[in-house]
Amino acid sequence: MREIDLHVHTTASDGTTPPEKLVRLAEAQGLRAVAITDHDTVHGYVAAARAGKACGVELVPGIEISTKFRRAVHILGYYVDPESPELKPVLDWVVQDRDARNEKMVALMAADGLPVSYAQMHERFGEVIGRPHFARVLVELGLAETVKDAFDRFVEKGQKYYVGRNFLSIERSIEIIRAAGGVPVLAHPFQYRLDDAGLRELIEHCLDHGLKGLECRYSGYDEDMCAYLLALAEEYRLLPTGGSDYHGANKPQIALGSGRNGELEVPYEWLARLKEAASV
Ligand code: AMP
Ligand code: ZN
Ligand code: FE
Ligand code: FE
Repeated sequence: MREIDLHVHTTASDGTTPPEKLVRLAEAQGLRAVAITDHDTVHGYVAAARAGKACGVELVPGIEISTKFRRAVHILGYYVDPESPELKPVLDWVVQDRDARNEKMVALMAADGLPVSYAQMHERFGEVIGRPHFARVLVELGLAETVKDAFDRFVEKGQKYYVGRNFLSIERSIEIIRAAGGVPVLAHPFQYRLDDAGLRELIEHCLDHGLKGLECRYSGYDEDMCAYLLALAEEYRLLPTGGSDYHGANKPQIALGSGRNGELEVPYEWLARLKEAASV
């Protein structure tokens, strides 16, 4: 029986499942706890926690922040205080930077005669708008077959509607999460295409700034990969975490709680340890 999922996106960022619906889905899957880790916003967690009160699923506040350490690196934060005066201005800055970037992407599309209204996108997709939303719009306009196709031909780096955005440094992201009372965790370590030495260098850099955990179980990670990450976590005294990175229809291969091929299984005990770390 699957117990928990600590990496989940809702419609508050780039998932397609609204927070209230997500809680019901988690309950239907028999999950004991779910952490909402939307990109750059805690609004999805707040809505899910409200809906979660009425059912038996424990909702954990989380965040996922995109940073740069030579390449894009994601830092998860668990048990951040959604009301934290440290966190809010930083997240506001990220959303404003996204808005400025997104307006430029809309202008490029408008110059090609595409009927894309940014105000309407905000109305439809909420506060945090990213390239996955643009990809969806391009599919709906008939310019691309799938979201992936839209990325490959239009919004991936180097393609005609791509505009870059700014990132918080990895140091600052970790510090902000800690200042907000949260536990910082390095997300999906295999995503960075680093060899063992490179991954250790990244982990050690993060540790210098207060990293507390390593995502050891993740959709698509097999037993060997998980064992390698668990050994690293133990060696560096990092807490293991795990989650699916569920995005609803935006990543249809990934199921809440069980991952890509049912390989995901995250014990409740890992959450208990995170909770303990957050409260000290
Ligand atoms: P943004 O932060 O708005 O620039 O968008 C980045 C997000 O787009 C990433 O977090 C991914 O979830 C998604 N993404 C990036 N590349 C691709 C791709 N080739 N296909 C589908 N989604 C992608
Ligand atoms: Zn995402
Ligand atoms: Fe991520
Ligand atoms: Fe994620």
